[in-house]
Amino acid sequence: MTASPNLFADCTLPGCPNPVAAAGQVCGACREAFGPMLQPARAEAMTAEEIAHRDGAVRDIYAARIPDHAAGAAEPVPASTPDRDGEVQA
Ligand SMILES: [Zn+2]
Repeated sequence: MTASPNLFADCTLPGCPNPVAAAGQVCGACREAFGPMLQPARAEAMTAEEIAHRDGAVRDIYAARIPDHAAGAAEPVPASTPDRDGEVQA
């Protein structure tokens, strides 16, 4: 288990940062948004370790895609667009 800097656990739905009282719970906003479509996948709530394992691969991919500005990486180059004649301008 990794130490969490947060006092509360995050909502168990992927991508929702709302705090909940205990790991494995769903926040009120998600309950309201999803209503009866939100169904438990199993009898027991997921543990913090299971949630971290489930979300780890996606979090690693997101982190790899974010430019590392702190390390002095170059700013992202804006996509070039073709002009009226169809020539690509840098
Ligand atoms: Zn939520």
